[in-house]
Amino acid sequence: MAIQTLFGTNGVRGVVNKDFTPEFVTKLGMAAGTYFGGGDILIGYDGRTSNLMLSRAAIAGLASTGCNVYDGGLAPTPAIQFATKRFGFDGSVIITASHNPPEYNGFKVIATDGVEVPREEEVKIENIFFAETFRRREWSELGNITEFTGIIEAYKEGVKRHLDVEAIRKAGFRVVVDPANSVGALVTPYLLRELGCEVITVNAQLDGNFPGRMPEPKPETLGGLSSIVKAVKADLGVAHDGDADRAIFVDETGDVRWGDKTGAIVVDYLLQRNKGGVVVTPVSSSKLVEEIIEARGGSLVWTKVGSIIVSRKMLEVNSLVSFEENGGIFYGPHQPVRDGPMATGLLLEIMAKTGKTLGQLVEGLPTYHLVKERVECPNEAKQRVLEKLMRLTEGYDRITIDGVKVLLKDGAVLIRPSGTEPIYRIYAEAKDEKRAEEIAEWGVGLVRQSF
Ligand code: MG
Repeated sequence: MAIQTLFGTNGVRGVVNKDFTPEFVTKLGMAAGTYFGGGDILIGYDGRTSNLMLSRAAIAGLASTGCNVYDGGLAPTPAIQFATKRFGFDGSVIITASHNPPEYNGFKVIATDGVEVPREEEVKIENIFFAETFRRREWSELGNITEFTGIIEAYKEGVKRHLDVEAIRKAGFRVVVDPANSVGALVTPYLLRELGCEVITVNAQLDGNFPGRMPEPKPETLGGLSSIVKAVKADLGVAHDGDADRAIFVDETGDVRWGDKTGAIVVDYLLQRNKGGVVVTPVSSSKLVEEIIEARGGSLVWTKVGSIIVSRKMLEVNSLVSFEENGGIFYGPHQPVRDGPMATGLLLEIMAKTGKTLGQLVEGLPTYHLVKERVECPNEAKQRVLEKLMRLTEGYDRITIDGVKVLLKDGAVLIRPSGTEPIYRIYAEAKDEKRAEEIAEWGVGLVRQSF
């Protein structure tokens, strides 16, 4: 059991010099170093204003516990994860707040396999942190601190190994890249040039003030990218979040295509290319992906929502691919973590191999209508409501690993307590818009009946 919680769904996060101070991060470094028990630990970070200050705080903490720290510098999260495994580190720490606004920063702990440590290991780190049972070393046993170069080159080679480079080169795409003034700028424009693309960049100078746009790629923040794609008649636009583990794409007409669609396109292509495979899918994902998996003879493994849970499950079942609707694509044979540059390469390969534009690929997908609702529910009532919901939905075809997902013949509804707000979320979908609304209403009714 955790004494107190530090880790959220994606590492420890906080506001710089409010709750996320250098002394706090040093202690986090000491807790992580104690957990690792020494060894060779890689550290890397995204382009925030606080990253040099906080990475040095973390390095001091790690070295005090006897870990030899290798400073990999600025790099996307997936590149640091890749390097952790590729170069045989005992683990790594990433200083990043991903898509959060500029005043935030965060601390992620990666295991030797390149994937974030699972929740039960985070609990161990939290317990060390709060009990202050640090592995402080004598003056003669402190860890060494060294620079480590070459992560980005090795990572780009790793991505290209999984792509049909010749096919992409031949297509000669024009691509606009928007890395949100952060570390995606160090990889994606260069990777795409190596893939024979003509690359145009926007917001590609590293600047922790995020002057171009906020680091979360959303239709509202990608207006600039859309207009450039149209103006230069590009084949594709790609936008990363602050640590480039996500990629949201803009099609040839300047329309932002959300991650549920691009993820489904990637799953469809990979199942076809691989002649089947295991797809891990969080319960929040659309029936669209179920339909594709069935059509392509793949098999489906449901998991709870959360990228770390998805990654760990992928390792367990040797999964080919997974995705989240926010633009996170996990390609198992490369590494089972969200990886924005890998996702971009795969999409370009699909466009090259099929001869279709992103717009055409999306139009070719089966359509589902999604209706989202919410019902207020105090946190302390959530468990009781869930138990009642379980009773009310008995006898239905359903999945109960994270809230309740009821699978109907012509649609589905996921009813799930929010992890952060005092509400229940209801996601209903069906091929017919009116039917999706009916199902959503039914879901809302079930929650209300459960009070
Ligand atoms: Mg991210």
